[in-house]
Amino acid sequence: MPRLVADVEACQGYGNCITGASDVFDIDDDGVVVLLKEKVPESDRARVEEAARSCPVSALSVED
Ligand code: SF4
Repeated sequence: MPRLVADVEACQGYGNCITGASDVFDIDDDGVVVLLKEKVPESDRARVEEAARSCPVSALSVED
């Protein structure tokens, strides 16, 4: 099952990741990304990877 990793130090709170994957990513009151899930089903991999790639500072990754 793909595992999500967020670099909260790198996150700048742009929110791009939430577009298309608001069930997985959110932003807290400090403007830092929050993972709503640690793992996603294989069927969600492509969508979540695309959302991770949309991060301008490459703060997100999807690992096996
Ligand atoms: S797109 Fe990147 S910088 Fe923006 S909130 Fe998501 S993780 Fe943070």
